[in-house]
Amino acid sequence: MGCCDAPGLMPIEEALDKMLSPIKPIQTTLSLPLAEALGYVLAEDVLSPIFVPPFDNSAMDGYALRLTDLEQTRELPLAGKSFAGQPFSGEWPAQTTIRIMTGAKIPEGCDAVVMQENTLVTDAGIQITQEHIQQNNNIRPTGDDIKQGDIVLNQGARLTPRDIPMIASLGISHVSVVRKPKVAFFSTGDELKTLGEPLAEGQIYDSNRYGIKPLIEAFGCEAIDLGIIPDCPETLKLTFGKAQSLADVVVTSGGVSVGEADYTKDILEELGQIGFWKLAIKPGKPFAFGELDNAWFCGLPGNPVSAILTMYVLVQPMLAKLAGHSAWTAPESIPAVTKSAFKKGPGRTDYQRGIYTIEEGKFVVETTGNQSSGAFRSMSLANCFVVIEKDRGSVEVGETVQIQLFNSTLY
Ligand code: AMP
Ligand code: MG
Repeated sequence: MGCCDAPGLMPIEEALDKMLSPIKPIQTTLSLPLAEALGYVLAEDVLSPIFVPPFDNSAMDGYALRLTDLEQTRELPLAGKSFAGQPFSGEWPAQTTIRIMTGAKIPEGCDAVVMQENTLVTDAGIQITQEHIQQNNNIRPTGDDIKQGDIVLNQGARLTPRDIPMIASLGISHVSVVRKPKVAFFSTGDELKTLGEPLAEGQIYDSNRYGIKPLIEAFGCEAIDLGIIPDCPETLKLTFGKAQSLADVVVTSGGVSVGEADYTKDILEELGQIGFWKLAIKPGKPFAFGELDNAWFCGLPGNPVSAILTMYVLVQPMLAKLAGHSAWTAPESIPAVTKSAFKKGPGRTDYQRGIYTIEEGKFVVETTGNQSSGAFRSMSLANCFVVIEKDRGSVEVGETVQIQLFNSTLY
């Protein structure tokens, strides 16, 4: 057993279960203009009030026909036109054709549209050069896409740029959505410096907040940045108090290890309740979860890879549940053959950072190199996690491992 393999670490599945089971989805809903609803979770199903398209229309620029007319002649005089938004109205004499544009209403009695490219303009009118024309050729029927009353999106779906235009096609101007969870976050550490200022001896830049904020937002939540807090119990307590008055969830980075300046866990024990601390995950072992009086608490380890990784693996599912995003699913595992070795000791589930490619239709994966939890370039270079099972040891070239492709929040 290596130096870091402590017995009694909680397995990830158990931790996730402990985090998710007490969470009740937010019930507050609001009605938002469709254009502002991107990224929100639907509070109710969206039903179509209309048929889409609302009328039979042409899929092509061409000519509207009655197929029986073609039994006598292939040359038809023009009787009028049907343009998008300007339907043909009036009598349609036998053995004539109507000029029709894409999206224009199909005239009464028309049973096919021939595309312009299959016709010739002659002195007498329009000559139809296409041999066989099938009934309903190039006609998009009413309700072809969506029927009136269809459920087009379910409650619990999170609105994407693909959903918004579809809802717009139904004429729906406002949607009922769940209020976004508010997540207050801060970095802890006397060594942390704000960007733009020179580093004094022993200092490093606070990079974690720059990863935590976009992830909170990508998870569909509102981010409240409380800055850098020094390793000072009084200031930390005050900040926890402020954070929980502002937010549904408080996320901190740093201060959850066993060092002498790691106060976060102790303060949580004082102000609330620790749910668990220390997981069988690498990196990210000191991750802590608990409950304050008015908010949930997630304590991310300070090491940059650990912070972002536990945010993604552990906090993401919890925020999805809180947001009512019931359609959220955990990233799937895909088998991949290793192109490089992966060093590992048994005892914890490793989330190593890898680069996958597809070779001859099969996933292959190699390491991003230095897998230290402080070496963030391993995350920056990666496009997937290589999830190596808890009890497995090092992996050689050519073995099969499970990879998880980054979802759109990390992409
Ligand atoms: P801690 O969890 O506070 O013991 O920190 C573990 C390691 O992560 C130490 O090397 C810290 O300096 C580093 N660290 C903590 N917070 C941050 C941060 N916000 N940005 C970058 N590195 C950090
Ligand atoms: Mg610290």
